[in-house]
Amino acid sequence: MRTATKRIAQRTYMLTDRLTGVNQFLLEGEERALLIDTGYGTKSLPRAVERLTSLPVVAVNTHLHPDHSNGNGFFGKVMVGERDLPAHGVPSNELFEGVAAAYGKSPLRPFMSFARKLALIDSSAADYSPLPDAIDLGGRRVEVIPCPGHTAGSVLFCDSETGTVFAGDAINREQWMFTCPASATKSYAELWRGLEARLAGYSELVISHSRKPLDFGFIGEFIRAFETIKPENGRPSRIKGTPEPVTFYEYESERYGRIRVWAYPSQVR
Ligand SMILES: [Zn+2]
Repeated sequence: MRTATKRIAQRTYMLTDRLTGVNQFLLEGEERALLIDTGYGTKSLPRAVERLTSLPVVAVNTHLHPDHSNGNGFFGKVMVGERDLPAHGVPSNELFEGVAAAYGKSPLRPFMSFARKLALIDSSAADYSPLPDAIDLGGRRVEVIPCPGHTAGSVLFCDSETGTVFAGDAINREQWMFTCPASATKSYAELWRGLEARLAGYSELVISHSRKPLDFGFIGEFIRAFETIKPENGRPSRIKGTPEPVTFYEYESERYGRIRVWAYPSQVR
């Protein structure tokens, strides 16, 4: 079984793809279950969901990226943040094609054709609609808070019943911002300042690419990382084929170690 399941709170499960390490989450109410993200598209995810719940499943994505959305086809109807609806285009597909083209003649080429299968989102695989402000699972209400930055339509799912925030890729030790060139570092810091206050009543902060939850204290350091970014401290990465060089900016936190922001130089403002 490729999908590992773990109960993380009452009627709340983390489902982890053992191969890629990406998490999905399942929350049960009295009438419906909420599936947060669908992974790269392994069949063992719908099988694991079926074993965990007999309730009708509402599938949502924290944002439209292949490691969160490529299993959407298993669930038919999927809700994503308005700005991430495929009707607006699929920026991650464009980004991937640019990078793949740059590696077209390199020794990495055979790997690129394999990567294409994983990395491209087929928007016709599911029926997409925008997320509401809250989702009622029957006796359990999950609030949807916009958090644009990693993608334009990224959201946080906030479950007051268990005090858990499901943040997807909106906060991380390695934060990718070049995936949404319209976002800027100072405004992302400001956005998180507001969220920090708004999330004060919550106690768990879970993310997609680590089985360990983030400490709530991490938010303050994450904000400082964004606030203190200076253009001259950027170091170019080796990623080719992007509109600007993907550059990383490091911040050393005494308590949490290194935090890295990956962005285009034009986003540092
Ligand atoms: Zn992502």
